Amino acid sequence: MLSWKVGEVTITRVVELEVPVPWSEEHAFLKEATPETLRTMPWLYPHFVRPEDDAMLLSFHALLVDAPGMRLVVDTCIGNDKPRKELGMQALSTPFLDHMRDAGWPPESVQAVVCTHLHVDHVGWNTRLEDGKWVPTFPNARYLIGRVDHAHWSGNGDETDLQILADSVQPIFDAGLADYVEMDQVLTPEIRLVPTPGHTPGHISVMIESKGETAFITGDALHHPSQMAYPDWCPSVDVDPALSPATRRSLLAEAESKGLLFIGTHFAGPTAGRVVKDGANWRLEV
Ligand SMILES: [Zn+2]
Repeated sequence: MLSWKVGEVTITRVVELEVPVPWSEEHAFLKEATPETLRTMPWLYPHFVRPEDDAMLLSFHALLVDAPGMRLVVDTCIGNDKPRKELGMQALSTPFLDHMRDAGWPPESVQAVVCTHLHVDHVGWNTRLEDGKWVPTFPNARYLIGRVDHAHWSGNGDETDLQILADSVQPIFDAGLADYVEMDQVLTPEIRLVPTPGHTPGHISVMIESKGETAFITGDALHHPSQMAYPDWCPSVDVDPALSPATRRSLLAEAESKGLLFIGTHFAGPTAGRVVKDGANWRLEV
């Protein structure tokens, strides 16, 4: 299990899924990320692109932030028992909660949960199925729900999005465990939210600072390290493809100038590194 120490804070990665995402003409997660283009970035291999077939590797994981006064889960993956179109309407059944327990994080010990945005792979373990009902997975936690993103998805009317809210967000409100947060909210002296809109209107990232050390959890401000070299590459899941490249450029420039530990929410292992300048843009040094 990967973990990082940032001053007095420990961040631990618990993986739900790691998947290869091969490029194809008709279906590509990043349409510009052809095998030929990926091969011009040898630093992506072997961690972030699979050498055998140039498939991009994506990880779905939660980041557990153990800070003074707050045990915070950042993003809750896809969850069990939820048939989703991204999974061909198959539901997952993974030992994710056992892996959290193995990391020293039983569900009862979680004090706060924050979702960087309300997409299907960031809210799943907010709830679990018990006797046919969706109940909060973390019964003692405050769930910090981004006000802007919640308003956006609640008003959007798309049946799939509303289903995700119904089984993974509304039960949290019904249980009285939800608190709205603003995009730049300070959670504790060590943890604050950073607005990174574009992927979704209310998308946030998480900054951790302790004892002069700093780490940054990206959320889906970028999905794959190749977007450090090509910040303009947008997956079709970016809601505002004009805004998300600008957000990526500004956060990459800041990450490089501060030399902070850059932790990717969908980056395959080793998942974190330093952002360094590479030509006009950047790459990840692991
Ligand atoms: Zn995602």
